[in-house]
Amino acid sequence: MTREGKFIGILFECCNIYRRIYMNKEKNAYEGKCPKCNGEVKVKIGPGGTETRFFSAR
Ligand SMILES: [Zn+2]
Repeated sequence: MTREGKFIGILFECCNIYRRIYMNKEKNAYEGKCPKCNGEVKVKIGPGGTETRFFSAR
């Protein structure tokens, strides 16, 4: 279990691209954009951190 992860891996299902997205300034979510269609994705971080390491964007 890693607590200091500044990024997570995410699969942009829109374009089937795997990428890393990074923590935002507020440190309450990971935010990123699909490199292909520019679709935005945001993964909220709970009090105990994120439980899953991999997320999917739509
Ligand atoms: Zn996309």
